[in-house]
Amino acid sequence: TLDAVGVSAWFGQRKVLEQVDIVMNSGEVTALIGPSGCGKSTFLRILNRMHELVPAATLAGSVLLDGEDVYGTALALTEVRRRIGMVFQKPNPFPAMSIADNVTAGLKLTGRRPADREALVEECLRRASLWDEVRGRLTAPAGGLSGGQQQRLCIARSLAVRPDVLLMDEPCSALDPTSTRRVEETIGELKEQVTIVIVTHNMQQAQRVSQRCAFFLAEEDSPGRVVEQGPTEQVFQHPEDPRTADYVNGRF
Ligand code: ATP
Ligand code: MG
Repeated sequence: TLDAVGVSAWFGQRKVLEQVDIVMNSGEVTALIGPSGCGKSTFLRILNRMHELVPAATLAGSVLLDGEDVYGTALALTEVRRRIGMVFQKPNPFPAMSIADNVTAGLKLTGRRPADREALVEECLRRASLWDEVRGRLTAPAGGLSGGQQQRLCIARSLAVRPDVLLMDEPCSALDPTSTRRVEETIGELKEQVTIVIVTHNMQQAQRVSQRCAFFLAEEDSPGRVVEQGPTEQVFQHPEDPRTADYVNGRF
């Protein structure tokens, strides 16, 4: 479980997030929705401490991973990055590296060597619903895969370090409908073992994959806030805030 408490964020003097409180439960998929520029990606980067890599970026509030402060001294940065993985909008495998080596590329972070590397590669590719498509060409360069296959390879790579949480920032927006479906199926299978947080502009996708949903909005020059959150069905079918109703029904 990942718990964001009173998270605010700035880029220089400009405040972009205001007092965000969201509990992202294990065993569930949490969808973050809202218009462009409302701070969804910024919020995701705060969750795994990537925000601090951005020049002049600051924040307030806290993020707890199973009760432990992600920004505290008890959790080393490498441990945070291992336990909270990220999948980006654009698939970013190492194109010249083999498919198998891509899967294990993150293992240096753990300082551990798997007892059986081949078994780990197969397991992760299976969990990412890619095994059947690539089992005969594990030594081929990853750059030869389709976009949708590359994205599932990135998911497999994230899984190899055994994360507790997977953050996904518009993981399907560069994919065709078939690949999108495959990735959604993968998300559905993973959610039992991994806490998943997904940013999406696709309202159907949010309803298909998530159990909880948070709607972010930045009005005029104000920072982004969570206007409404709750069970996905409630947010979509019975929104409490008229702005949520307008957004989920495509009126802005
Ligand atoms: P989109 O749906 O378009 O991806 P988003 O909700 O992910 O949007 P963010 O990328 O988090 O929005 O941006 C939130 C605000 O922070 C925007 O006003 C953006 O211009 C600003 N911002 C994002 N990254 C930086 C940065 N590196 N430096 C300065 N401002 C930034
Ligand atoms: Mg974004």
